[in-house]
Amino acid sequence: MDYKVFIDNDAEYLKWVELNETGFVVNTTRTKRKAYRVLHKASCRHVTTRQSWQGDGAFTSRDYIKICAPTIDSLRAWTRAEGESSGQFSQECASCKPWLSESYTEVSSASGGLSLENVKDLHDKYLELIKFEVEQLGVKPTEARHLIGRLGEFYCALTVNGTISHVVNQHGFDVLAQDGRRISVKTTAQKSGFVRISEKTLDKVDDLMVIQYANGRLDEVYFGNIQLAISHARYYDNLKAYELDISKARALSSAQVVATEI
Ligand SMILES: [Zn+2]
Repeated sequence: MDYKVFIDNDAEYLKWVELNETGFVVNTTRTKRKAYRVLHKASCRHVTTRQSWQGDGAFTSRDYIKICAPTIDSLRAWTRAEGESSGQFSQECASCKPWLSESYTEVSSASGGLSLENVKDLHDKYLELIKFEVEQLGVKPTEARHLIGRLGEFYCALTVNGTISHVVNQHGFDVLAQDGRRISVKTTAQKSGFVRISEKTLDKVDDLMVIQYANGRLDEVYFGNIQLAISHARYYDNLKAYELDISKARALSSAQVVATEI
């Protein structure tokens, strides 16, 4: 791809940014640390103006190097080639705001920026984290609801080889399966009780996955058509929502299996 790496050459680097005002620059360390790859516009003062306390070689000759390209896509290709499979940068400069550029492109990999490899990684990390919070620190699972909810989405995305929709800003469902089915994921740490399904988003969802977190692992309670699920749920007019008993969801799931076997 169309990128240039500048190491130990401030003069050539400064010439490049001057000639490519509409281009982009990634500032990274000499070792190209994945955790430090910051995207700037080529016109950003942070990558073009030497501070008084910085001597010669401030841009490419000491701890930092620069990767330059006319387009963000080329820099995404660079970061991928250097081991960041998502094509994302560790940070995008809050001063020059490259995301406001007309040529700004979102990453187009599977999970809207999260590759399945990333999702697997996140799933394992969240699970460890929740186990630590709940089992070691004695935090109530209900207080870790947000983490458990996210863990459930990762689990679902991995199961159906799908993408997590928050990342690409879709609403009403949580995971988009490869076959295009939209899945709402409900993850609960309750042993019994119910999950709530909002009526408002029903037309944006095809399937429901109910997952239970207990003793450091996830248990898939129900995965199937959401209409079937709500036909066995209670409707509350004041909440504009359905409540599906976990036990009923489980029974429904085994009934589905039996039906398919026949
Ligand atoms: Zn910047």
